[in-house]
This record gives sequence, structure tokens and C-alpha cells, in this order.
Amino acid sequence: MPAAETRLTIDLDALAANYRQLGAAAPGAEVAPVVKANGYGLGATPVARRLWAEGARSFFVARMHEGEDLRAELGRERPASIYVLDGCPPGAADGLVAADLTPVLNSLEQVRAWPTRTPAALHVDTGMNRLGVSARDLDALPSTLQVDLVMSHLACAEDAANQLNAAQLERFRHAAERFPGARRSLANSAGVFLGEAFHFDMVRPGICLYGGGSLGGPDLRFRAVATLEAPVLQVREIPAGETVGYGAAFTAAEPITVGLVAAGYADGVLRAASPGGYGWAGGVRCPILGRISMDLIALDISRAGGVGVGTMVELLGPNAPVDDLAASAGSIAYEVLARLTARGRRVYVGDVG
Ligand SMILES: *Cc1c(COP(=O)(O)O)cnc(C)c1O
Repeated sequence: MPAAETRLTIDLDALAANYRQLGAAAPGAEVAPVVKANGYGLGATPVARRLWAEGARSFFVARMHEGEDLRAELGRERPASIYVLDGCPPGAADGLVAADLTPVLNSLEQVRAWPTRTPAALHVDTGMNRLGVSARDLDALPSTLQVDLVMSHLACAEDAANQLNAAQLERFRHAAERFPGARRSLANSAGVFLGEAFHFDMVRPGICLYGGGSLGGPDLRFRAVATLEAPVLQVREIPAGETVGYGAAFTAAEPITVGLVAAGYADGVLRAASPGGYGWAGGVRCPILGRISMDLIALDISRAGGVGVGTMVELLGPNAPVDDLAASAGSIAYEVLARLTARGRRVYVGDVG
């Protein structure tokens, strides 16, 4: 039997199930997967190919080079619209056209940098004050501009009670009236769950596709897509009063059994996830002890039955949701996923499509 190794498994069937779940939550709207930052760290190519096979025909990336790579990977056999959220910085128009990418124009300056008769998407700022043309600048748009998609982005969608949601919705409706021929898109993952009024023609989910909750905590409607597992390398018994790891940051209050696991922050387990984080082994949550090092994590396995050298511990996955790891690190699921590396040891399961 080969030695157990640290590995990141990406479950494309779970991804597809999450895509269908979002489609069911926004009936009538196109679900356009957001695959920026290499598909939230999980691999833009396998993610987009599988979702194309599931019916997705529009994708969003952030950078132009992400779009170029995605266009090449989808190839001629998988035609799709690829929207670039960075838009069209000065000088980028020729490259965008050459790669058949659709910029999401974000400012009057970007509109001027784009050949107006070529269809583009237009991002209208409705109160987030990030990217987007301000409402007061809409009058200054050239009448020749061909807008095939008008979109905006919600600042507080994961907080359904926030009044900014309704204000943004109202401003978006108003702005979109100027572009009667254009399709409309407002919702990210969390926006899908704000209700039908937020769906329009297209929704743009990212995090829920990848198994993160849309409300800042684990969401059982969505399956874990990424699973990070690592073997126990050594087990030691520690008497009360002794410390574990760098900085002697943890002191045992009673005798405990410690499992040293072959994963660390170099694999993507955020160093800030201790104290508070856990791994799943022997059917229980095993608290992380002391500091997370580059290559190792110490777990309290005192209550985990049958765990020994070689046992695989789940640090992230169905039993250790990405939102839990994020919360213990004072972060969000997005950042945990985007930083997962597993030193390049990744395995894809499920149909690639
Ligand atoms: C990243 C992004 C999304 C996806 O957001 P999630 O919260 O991951 O669903 C949608 N729209 C825009 C403009 C984005 O930048």
C-alpha cells in the first residue's frame, strides 16, 4: 500500500449539484458561474468544463489573462460568453476582442477605450462604490454604445436585513431602464437568496458553487467541493503542564494524546485558524493545539477512537466545513479556498465533462 499523502480532492459532482441547486433557487434566470482566481482556487478549467457540460454558457473572470486562458481551455467545441470583470483598461481592447472576451465596462474612461459598436457589458455602481459607472455619469455614455448586459454588485447581500439591498435594487432597476435591449444581472450567491426580485435575467454565483455558505456560515444546501486531508505522522502522549509547538502557545491542562498531522499553512490551512480550528478524525472534531506551522498541525486526538500513524485527518471537507475553518481564522470561505495549495497535490473526482 502506498504511503498516505496530504491531498486536496475536488469533487466535480458536488460542484454540479451546487450549480443545479442555484438554478433551482433562481428559476428562469441564467446561472453564470464566477470562475475568477482560478475558480476560487479549485481550478478554473475543470470547473468551467464541468459546468459547461451542465449547461452553463456564460462565465465571469476578473482578469483578462484569466479570460484568455479560459477561452483556450474551453476551445471551439464549448462556445460560451466570457465576461471580464476588470473591464477594458486603456489599451486592452484589441486583446479582449482577439480572445473573444466581453469586458464589463466599469467607467467612462473604459467606455472610451472600447470600440462602441462591439457589444459589451456595463457595470453600474448602485452604492458599493467599488467598480462601476456612477449613476450620475450614465447621461454621458455615448449613444452608440452596445450594451448586451447591464449589471451591478451587492455590497451586503449576505445580510438580508441590510437596507442597502433594497436601495441597490431600486437604483439598479432605475439604471437598467436606460438599456431596454440589455439583459440584467445583480445577484451574487447571497443575492440569489434575497428573493426573486434580485434574480433578473442572470445570477452570478461564485462561493456557493464551491461549497461555501452564502450567509457566512456552513449551508447544508451546498455540498463541500474541496476536501483537504493529511495523514497523522506521529502520536504522542503529553502529561499535564507540558506545552505543544512553537512559542509553547498551548499548555496541556490534563494528560492528552496529540496527533501530528502532515499539513500546515503552506498547504493552505491559515495560520490564524488556531486557536479555534479543528480537524475531523475518528468521527470527532479534534481541536488544533498551539500554532499551525508550515508543514505540521498538532491535534488533540484524545477523544478520537482508532486514530494512529497513517490515519487520514480531514482538515477541510464535508465534516470540517470551509466556513468553520474560515471563522476560526477570522476570515471568510473565499479566502480559505483561494489560498488552498496542498503543494500541488490535487485530485479531481467526478466527471470532468
Ligand atoms: C466575485 C463576484 C461575484 C461572485 O460572488 P459570490 O459572493 O462568490 O457569489 C459576483 N459578481 C461580481 C461582480 C464579483 O466580483
